[in-house]
Amino acid sequence: MKVYAAFHKDDAVVKKSSSGGMFIALSDVFLESGDAVAGAVYDYSTHTVKHIVCDNKESRDCCCGSKYVQSYIGKNVYVEVENILKEGRRVLYTGVPCQISAIKKYLEVKRIDTTNLFTCEILCHGAGSPGIWNRFINSLEKNKKVKISSINFKDKRKGWLNPICIASDGNKEFFLRGYTWMYFSDNILRPSCYSCRYSCETRFSDVTIGDFWKVKKKAPDMYNSKGTSFILSNTPKGDELISAISDSLKIKEVSFEDVKQNNLTRPTVKGKHRDRIMKDYASKKTGAFTAKWMTVLGVDKGLEKLKKKLSR
Ligand SMILES: Cc1cc2nc3c(=O)[nH]c(=O)nc-3n(C[C@H](O)[C@H](O)[C@H](O)COP(=O)(O)OP(=O)(O)OC[C@H]3O[C@@H](n4cnc5c(N)ncnc54)[C@H](O)[C@@H]3O)c2cc1C
Ligand code: SF4
Repeated sequence: MKVYAAFHKDDAVVKKSSSGGMFIALSDVFLESGDAVAGAVYDYSTHTVKHIVCDNKESRDCCCGSKYVQSYIGKNVYVEVENILKEGRRVLYTGVPCQISAIKKYLEVKRIDTTNLFTCEILCHGAGSPGIWNRFINSLEKNKKVKISSINFKDKRKGWLNPICIASDGNKEFFLRGYTWMYFSDNILRPSCYSCRYSCETRFSDVTIGDFWKVKKKAPDMYNSKGTSFILSNTPKGDELISAISDSLKIKEVSFEDVKQNNLTRPTVKGKHRDRIMKDYASKKTGAFTAKWMTVLGVDKGLEKLKKKLSR
């Protein structure tokens, strides 16, 4: 396995990506040679996240940015990928590790030649519950009497290391604190995420990409205030991909120890409120549900801050 710190040379690309713009660098290689890219997009009509297959940069751009909600993959995506491979074209399939494993299994069962399949997994902390997300976003639209037309789950205006989640109706912006508090306190992930078999050092795709959180300490010359990625090249196909994108990047080889973080060693631990949140989700009306849990998690946040202050 080879390990790199990297960010895109084009500042605008880093700015619109959640991390250092590796997804755009990789997908450009495929789209510019007439090949295809699969990734997750946000559907504003249903407020859901789903996978699509793209053959142009316009639809690929909709895949940019992390969406902290489980992405739905319909059978049509698998069939489309299968057909593209049968035509002899290449596919870059991106998604969280369990989704990479699923497409590989599908193609194996169907006995499809995967020479032209390249896989890029997004290091994954866990997929947020689509049901809870819907509660928050629908209640925001109802209470504010707006139609949300853009969401950035990882807005970097306060810097890549201090991301905020912002929704907009085109005129006004809304900070989505409640959902992010629940997501990042590990209280609303899918049940399988707490025993994720892909949260370990052994990787299952050609490349793995994620945030190089410790870059300031481990490779300070690679720090970019808008985002630095790490890349793991796990296979010869991964090495081929890295060499195809390296001209568009500032890139440096580092060690696995440098980039190591929780979901490269163990699954996320279940949050202390998860069972009660899910019970309330089933029994409480939206208003009561969000009000209660915004208060509980707000108090948790306050206590956390106080503890940090006292320990200084
Ligand atoms: C649910 C989730 C959890 C994450 N957890 C971590 C983590 O614990 N540690 C870490 O270092 N990085 C994590 N990341 C990854 C990180 O935030 C960046 O998305 C990643 O480094 C790629 O950044 P980029 O700048 O190259 O491209 P970006 O443009 O930011 O990323 C776009 C890519 O993300 C994929 N994607 C976006 N949302 C989803 C989704 N819901 N399901 C599947 N694929 C999706 C797209 O298909 C595309 O391939 C997570 C991302 C997601 C979506
Ligand atoms: S944590 Fe594991 S099981 Fe959960 S979405 Fe990520 S890869 Fe899939």
